[in-house]
Amino acid sequence: MPNAHNTSLEHYEVWFLTGSQHLYGEDVLKQVAAQSQEIAAALNASSDVPVKLVWKPVLTDADAIRRTALEANSDDAVIGVTAWMHTFSPAKMWIQGLDLLRKPLLHLHTQANVELPWADIDFDFMNLNQAAHGDREFGYIQSRLGVPRKTVVGHVSTPEVTRQVGAWQRAAAGWAAVRTLKLTRFGDNMRNVAVTEGDKTEAELRFGVSVNTWSVNELADAVHGAPESDVDALVAEYERLYEVAPELKAGGARHESLRYSARIELGLRAFLEGNGSAAFTTSFEDLGALRQLPGMAVQRLMADGYGFGAEGDWKTAILVRAAKVMGAGLPGGASLMEDYTYHLTPGQEKILGAHMLEVCPSLTAAKPRVEIHPLGIGGKEDPVRMVFDTDAGPGVVVALSDMRDRFRLVANAVDVVDLDEPLPNLPVARALWSPKPDFATSAAAWLTAGAAHHTVLSTQVGMDVFEDFAEIARTELLTIDEGTTIRQFKKELAWNAAYYKLAGGL
Ligand code: MN
Repeated sequence: MPNAHNTSLEHYEVWFLTGSQHLYGEDVLKQVAAQSQEIAAALNASSDVPVKLVWKPVLTDADAIRRTALEANSDDAVIGVTAWMHTFSPAKMWIQGLDLLRKPLLHLHTQANVELPWADIDFDFMNLNQAAHGDREFGYIQSRLGVPRKTVVGHVSTPEVTRQVGAWQRAAAGWAAVRTLKLTRFGDNMRNVAVTEGDKTEAELRFGVSVNTWSVNELADAVHGAPESDVDALVAEYERLYEVAPELKAGGARHESLRYSARIELGLRAFLEGNGSAAFTTSFEDLGALRQLPGMAVQRLMADGYGFGAEGDWKTAILVRAAKVMGAGLPGGASLMEDYTYHLTPGQEKILGAHMLEVCPSLTAAKPRVEIHPLGIGGKEDPVRMVFDTDAGPGVVVALSDMRDRFRLVANAVDVVDLDEPLPNLPVARALWSPKPDFATSAAAWLTAGAAHHTVLSTQVGMDVFEDFAEIARTELLTIDEGTTIRQFKKELAWNAAYYKLAGGL
């Protein structure tokens, strides 16, 4: 298996299951097998589909279906199953298998042919190509059992079908990454902050994430023990990759600060690798013997696929890690973000997001600047950080809140935009966006939902992937996009309050 923080989707697979039965004879089952292999191959050939589909022999009885579900559950490489009822697979055969299945499920409602063969169609053709019929039987049993799943409809040659299959696979990959996530916290939450709190035991049950704390001085020991030669090599890498401020370069007056920042990166990496962690948190109120608040080190680790939350915010660290995996290989990036301040000119309202240091440079294709500036809080030495503007384009900001009886995701579709004017005095990386459907509706909905000030901003994946993720995670998701009105949103909140109590059991 790759390193814990790896974001590659190559080691994952999705099983392609085909349902049929023996009623129509062996010749038909051979054709079912051949056609379903063609469907799986067509999906595998699409650049929209990032995880390889592994075709499984056609399922024709309850025992084989049950065994397949159990095998999928126990294979860590399998992040989900795609099921298609090619002919007619009587759905009582699927009850035990679906009841036991613990992996995400995509119901692909398709068929082998695009056009009706008007002149040639006979009843043999009808018996062979009756997914229109068989998938309805399958839909019934899934609904009867309350199986969460994504349903995708259409021929696999249609871009909309491969796009939806790909989005779901990305969500399933994010879920697989979260289910195995070990999250390391250095220190606890920022004092008195409410929304970054949460139930870590419940998080392990619901999401599979194990959240645990280490003393920051154990990290400081790793930082201060980093070999000098490794520091030399990393500082040289910084000078190669980034536009490093002259005062920080070798021979510059503040070069030692850059070396210390490199030390933090080396210590942090070693510590997280030792823990098998792919996500972490820090707290500026608990830095122990560390001389700088980790800034550039955190930015570099996020760029390598680590989830991160500042001020002890482990819930946002989970989202950042999930977003990194879900967006693997796509243009754009994902980062911790924080809503900071507004541009309120009527009709041009925008949100300026940033953090005190820790914004991931995956949000720009440009070369970041490496700078050092004072930090007004924390009482430590000036920290080194990368400074850049986030590239313009569509994105989504997502927050996770603990609502006592459940976790709540809130997602807002946004357009990241270019800065109206440069921000020469702002010493941190930043993003400027205009939220959908408009600023006032977005902010009112966000506040009404009790969504956090920390978020993940993804410019790699859209709302559709987060919707699939929430469905797989059986977690409430409130979406704020083009269609949102406050009147409807408030009703949704009221309905959800009742629904999630009932769905969670009383
Ligand atoms: Mn913050």
